[in-house]
Parts: sequence; C-alpha cells; structure tokens
Amino acid sequence: MQVGLLGLQGAFLDHIPHLARCGVAYSIVRDIQGLTRIDRLIIPGGESTVMAKFLVEFGMLAPLRERIGAGMPVWGVCAGAILLAEQVDGQPGPLGALGVQLTRNAYGRQIASDTVSIQVPILGLDAYPAIFIRAPRIDTLAAGVTVQASRQNDPVFVQQGRIMATTFHPELHGDDLFHRYFMEL
Ligand code: GLN
Repeated sequence: MQVGLLGLQGAFLDHIPHLARCGVAYSIVRDIQGLTRIDRLIIPGGESTVMAKFLVEFGMLAPLRERIGAGMPVWGVCAGAILLAEQVDGQPGPLGALGVQLTRNAYGRQIASDTVSIQVPILGLDAYPAIFIRAPRIDTLAAGVTVQASRQNDPVFVQQGRIMATTFHPELHGDDLFHRYFMEL
C-alpha cells in the first residue's frame, strides 16, 4: 500500500511521523504522475482556495476527482474537507466528492482556533481534545454520510464509504488513531 500526501500547500509534513509509525509506505503527491502511484490520499489542512488553485493549474483536479470516483480512499483534513465537499459557501466544491454542504471559517477567522473535547465512539474515544484551526462548519449532510463525531450539534468527523473528513487536526496529536483508522478504509 502506498499512501499519498497531497503536498501542494499546507500542513502535509505533520502527517509524516504518523505514517512512519503506522509502518506504511508514503509519498508526497505534487503532480499527476504522483497521483498514479498511490492507493489512498490524505488532503491536509491549509488554505483550500490556494490548494484548489494549484490543483487546477497542475491539471490534477479532474484526475483526482476520477480516482476518488473510482473508489480510492481519501481523507480530507480541514481545508482538505473543504476541497472534498459538494458545496462550499453555497458554491460547488472543487472535488465535489463528499455529500456535505459547509461554510468556511464558520467559527471565526484568524484567531478562531480552539481545542474542544469530543467523543469519537468508532475509535473508542470518550474525550478527545480536537484541535480546530479556522475550521469549516458542516451544515448539511446527504444520505449516505455518517457522522462519526460532533462538536455540540456540528458534525466534525464524517464518512461516506471510503471518503472521510475531519474539520479538526488529528495530525497535531501524538497518537495515530485517525491515521490507523484511515489505513483500514
Ligand atoms: N480556513 C481554511 C480554509 O478555508 C482551512 C483551515 C485549515 O485547514 N486549518 O481553507
């Protein structure tokens, strides 16, 4: 298994220690060739507008959409979740692969970063300190999207088949629980 880390912009390097501890082979994906070499992909946090722009400029948007449509597992973290969403701020999302509508920066702008204790039953977590950094809010869910964790009433970890999205940042934690879960999708 070869795990890809989309490395166009954002916090992709923070995933490397997790992947190393999981003992999986990984590569940083920056072009179409890189996309052909991987079996699954992590889209990191960062700035979704910048990542979307690079995906278009490097001709990667359509090939990536096709791979996801063909069943490649993908995990979007924060900005990655935004890229995957069907609708972003009322507009079609860049990849449009995940049946959610979301609002960017819904918890406030620059300084709106906080840690919120959440339950994640599927990972056996009762009080996981989820780190939110200028996170989007998931407003509506299509049929077939499962909520794996919420912050009050807002879904923050959702899954649709082999597509998963977290609006918080598990890569900033010392444990590998989310990475291991993704490897099993
Ligand atoms: N606010 C960013 C965006 O809209 C996402 C922030 C993040 O990925 N931590 O793309």
